[in-house]
Amino acid sequence: MSALVIAEHDHATVKPATLNTVTAAIACGGEVHVLVAGANAAEAGKAAAQIAGVTKVIVADSPSLAENLAENVAAQVLAIAGNYSHILFPSTANGKNVAPRVAAKLDVAQISDITAVVSADTFERPIYAGNAIATVQSTDATKVITVRTTGFDAAAATGGSAAVETAEGVADSGKSSFVSREVTKSERPELTAAKIIVSGGRALGSAEKFQEVMAPLADKLNAGLGASRAAVDAGYAPNDWQVGQTGKIVAPQLYIAAGISGAIQHLAGMKDSKVIVAINKDEEAPIFSVADYGLVADLFVALPEMTTAL
Ligand SMILES: Cc1cc2nc3c(=O)[nH]c(=O)nc-3n(C[C@H](O)[C@H](O)[C@H](O)COP(=O)(O)OP(=O)(O)OC[C@H]3O[C@@H](n4cnc5c(N)ncnc54)[C@H](O)[C@@H]3O)c2cc1C
Repeated sequence: MSALVIAEHDHATVKPATLNTVTAAIACGGEVHVLVAGANAAEAGKAAAQIAGVTKVIVADSPSLAENLAENVAAQVLAIAGNYSHILFPSTANGKNVAPRVAAKLDVAQISDITAVVSADTFERPIYAGNAIATVQSTDATKVITVRTTGFDAAAATGGSAAVETAEGVADSGKSSFVSREVTKSERPELTAAKIIVSGGRALGSAEKFQEVMAPLADKLNAGLGASRAAVDAGYAPNDWQVGQTGKIVAPQLYIAAGISGAIQHLAGMKDSKVIVAINKDEEAPIFSVADYGLVADLFVALPEMTTAL
């Protein structure tokens, strides 16, 4: 029995989501191998070999894998899938794009978004926006799994010394082609990797106020900026800042929610944060039910005061 983790990487480095996925793979029981499917990805392969608990890294290097096209990555996984009892992807946009293709081709049921490994064939996963936890058992020969990264601690990025092998890269499927990519550049930590997140809601009232009030506090704390869906829908914050059921799932050390009511769909994305601070002028706001520290106050007064005090 051995598990294959599909690395999330940028060809040179391995992204943090891979580390949490390795921890889930270790919990499945057997050896843990990592597939780095990329182009000129030797550096990412070396980084993956350092991850504690990984025994082998397979680097598949091909121009067809340069842009992470899901059809090509899935074909690469399938080329070696026969050697594994478990194939694990981080539950990221990339992982969720590739995993169903692999599961379908293997004719097995995907086990999505697991938060715990009970045994090699039994897993926990949240359902109903995190309000219930389902325990699912799979009798399929190969378990194709996506891993909710906030459910597992990150494996140590260094300390391992896995063997690195190369695998022949797959040919281009020809089913899709890369056109362009627009990447938002930000000095701030990426939301799912941020240790602190400052998140704003509808109460901010405009994109200008969001920047004026939230950004200085985030700067002081070296925090990522998040938002409720209401704030995103109103255009106060960009789409990729949305936290929640239909946004990003985060679990930072500190989550500060300002002017966010605490709808279940928002809580589904942040309630596993280690310490939650809520600032809301309505003392009945549901966000206070998950908050470790609550401040009933006008955010336009409280946030600038906090920023000044820090
Ligand atoms: C299928 C589905 C998926 C969804 N997915 C998501 C999701 O991923 N993420 C998400 O966030 N939502 C999601 N939603 C929407 C969710 O139901 C709520 O509508 C949304 O979270 C509300 O955002 P909010 O808290 O900013 O706004 P509101 O609910 O309007 O709350 C604003 C809060 O600000 C407080 N306030 C007002 N003025 C001030 C002030 N000056 N100082 C301090 N506090 C103030 C108010 O007391 C209030 O509590 C989803 C909904 C559906 C149906």
